[in-house]
Amino acid sequence: MSFGRRGKFFEEFLTPRTANGIGDFLTMGLIPDIPGVYRDDLLEHFGRKPQNPEIQAVILSHAHADHANYISFLHKDIPIYCGQTCKYILDAVDEQSQRTIENEVLNYKKRPAFKKNYKDPPIQRTFNTFRTEDKIKIDDLEIEPIHVDHSVPGAYGFIIHTSNGAVVYTGDLRLHGAHSDMTKDFIEKAAKEKPISMITEGTRIDSGQTGESETKVYDKSKGYLQDNKHLSIVDFNFKDVDRFTTFYNISKALNKKFVISFKHACFLERYHKDPKIKSPDSRNENILILKPKRLSGTYCDEDYTDEYIKRRLNYSNIITPEEIGKKPGDYIIVLNFWYFNQLIDLKPKSGVYIHSLSEPFNEEMEISYERMVNWVQFFNMDFVQSHCSGHINGADLKNLLETVKPKELFPIHTEKPELFSKLNLKNNIVEEAKTYKI
Ligand SMILES: [Zn+2]
Repeated sequence: MSFGRRGKFFEEFLTPRTANGIGDFLTMGLIPDIPGVYRDDLLEHFGRKPQNPEIQAVILSHAHADHANYISFLHKDIPIYCGQTCKYILDAVDEQSQRTIENEVLNYKKRPAFKKNYKDPPIQRTFNTFRTEDKIKIDDLEIEPIHVDHSVPGAYGFIIHTSNGAVVYTGDLRLHGAHSDMTKDFIEKAAKEKPISMITEGTRIDSGQTGESETKVYDKSKGYLQDNKHLSIVDFNFKDVDRFTTFYNISKALNKKFVISFKHACFLERYHKDPKIKSPDSRNENILILKPKRLSGTYCDEDYTDEYIKRRLNYSNIITPEEIGKKPGDYIIVLNFWYFNQLIDLKPKSGVYIHSLSEPFNEEMEISYERMVNWVQFFNMDFVQSHCSGHINGADLKNLLETVKPKELFPIHTEKPELFSKLNLKNNIVEEAKTYKI
């Protein structure tokens, strides 16, 4: 899924219509028109004949929406392979999202959706999960997933063993994060294979060395939060478990309770299941869950109709904004901009807001950003930017490519593929829907 291409035509209140099935996506070029890939029901709905799948599997590198979401359109007989933790995250996303045609990753409802079929159970996809260094056999290919560090756990790069030699795919990765050793493992193994070809991410190929790190995010954020006697708000992507750990550890060091949302709890409980991540459960003594105002606005149980909230209402660590307001200095609250109306209930008189996300990089984001700053200023809070990227910087990526030394390079996930031509490697500017023979 390309956010850029989708954003060219669609926005918040102008979206591809679920009622037109796959039609809006194919017509507006949001997905390529390739045979033997898409769901029978969607093709028929669009006036085409169903097709038998022509591919044997889809390998998912990690659980970010731009990589995972358009699995929604795939034929049900195409199995998906992903890391165990990646699957946990997809489960969490599924638990707390409203079904739309763009997020039917784990399962889907047959289209067209007639009222009489509303109660029919969804059709489940086949998911096979792996861990690092497992070997996956698909036809004559053997695929070796190797963990990499990225801004979501359960991210992998791959070595694809073919009869002609190895093909390497980086997935999304970085070398400046909290788990750079994992990316180093991947680079070492990829280099050993002397790959004939490499598919690489290149989101930040135009940057040099950036000097960013998760430790710097911790130090800068802690500096602002420890002097703050009033309300502390932090905002980060809750798929980013390293950032969670950073702020959770700050809250423990400063003896403050860490307050999350019910949505965040869905993710945390999945991370807690994975012993490698070492993340606390959502009912840990240092964690509280913020109860949002719904329906009657009185916080009574019947106000909550979302299943993911209903099944957690019996937790003993739930807190209301009004209770926080009595002693705001005792808490660090994770609050995303889309839930800023809760500031009205929290009533901060002053305090600190830490924006631990990337800065806006398009016009639409700038408008939201401006609005966010207005809220922060309205409540007399200090605005702090404290973030490090999930993607490798240009200087580190060039070093990586020089170490792995593939015979041929295919940059993807980049707006500047031509910059790779400056390297001493055979570069291909990839065209969509074209087949490349290696
Ligand atoms: Zn990613």
